[in-house]
Amino acid sequence: MDSQLQIIPVEINGRKLESPIFVSGPCSAETEEQVLETGRKISEMGIPIYRAGIWKPRTRPGNFEGLGAVALPWLAKLKEETGLLIATEVANPYHIKEAINYGVDILWIGARTTTNPFMVQELADYLRGLDIAVFVKNPINPDIDLWIGALERMNKAGLKKLVAIHRGFSFYGPSLYRNKPQWGIPIELKRRFPDLPIIVDPSHICGRRDLLREVCQKAVDLNFDGLFIESHINPERALSDKEQQVVPEELKKILASLVWRKPDITDRELKHDIELLRDKIDRLDDELLHVFEARMKVVERIAEFKKVNDVTILQADRWSEILNERKDIGNKLGLSEEFVMSVFKAIHLESINKQTRIMNREIAEKSDFTKYSSGK
Ligand code: PEP
Ligand code: MN
Repeated sequence: MDSQLQIIPVEINGRKLESPIFVSGPCSAETEEQVLETGRKISEMGIPIYRAGIWKPRTRPGNFEGLGAVALPWLAKLKEETGLLIATEVANPYHIKEAINYGVDILWIGARTTTNPFMVQELADYLRGLDIAVFVKNPINPDIDLWIGALERMNKAGLKKLVAIHRGFSFYGPSLYRNKPQWGIPIELKRRFPDLPIIVDPSHICGRRDLLREVCQKAVDLNFDGLFIESHINPERALSDKEQQVVPEELKKILASLVWRKPDITDRELKHDIELLRDKIDRLDDELLHVFEARMKVVERIAEFKKVNDVTILQADRWSEILNERKDIGNKLGLSEEFVMSVFKAIHLESINKQTRIMNREIAEKSDFTKYSSGK
């Protein structure tokens, strides 16, 4: 389903947020001193927005779940003293009411809330008619439609100062990251909604300090619109997410070390050089598509053969053999295993679909089930 989002740049009290948008502050507001001291350092660094969680969505009960509304006056005090814009997470109308009462400038929807359309709708209905910026984190599961859905619900309620936050996705199994970045998803979001600013939250992607710089650089190189990073004056003693928070001095070092590259090529000669390379890419892609076409023609012949001779579509041994051989060849050619596997898995799936259509043509035509594709 195609949709349009009506996005306007975030402007708060006459201050327009230009890309790159920087946001930093602790995972949770813990004490007045921690809120103020962290905030003063963030402000000195020229970062315009301070984040702090007041209500914390913890996976299991018994962990620190945030101090609640008692911490809001500290944020108001910080804002008054430094002029920082204040952002906090809200998950129900009560949170919104309290946050707005204390002058919070930006509300963010957490990853666990974005997964739930009932909750997002409840927030959107409560916010209807208000002129406030809303930052929407991706849902914990890698479902771009759910992310877009949450943005659309806000938009339909009249909220146009929207920013998406990419914080990675849950997965089951070992990984370097706390939440896998799956960069293809925010890249696709950018492709579909070029006006929507997307900022990256490396803290929740990494789950550990030592990877932060690398992920920040990647976000910058992919031309995303900013960074949302957790910082704390004393991370070791943080009540939530202590492994991933950095002291403001460390944050300053990370930001200073980032290499900012040009998003566009304006120089004519350079433009010419890259165009030559892009022409090559276009030609190679064309060749690839023709090779895919030729391969699918062979798949059709195999399907006819299997149909006549009553052979199953899948022979697991042959499929393992294909994967292993292609992986080895790819390896020798310097192609990563992950890439080769995903390309061949996609090819194989298409091949199975094609064979299914050919071998079960009569059933397909009789019951016409092919019409009922996913009705999202
Ligand atoms: C947070 O930003 O502290 C937070 C809880 O993030 P997420 O919703 O991305 O898990
Ligand atoms: Mn956190």
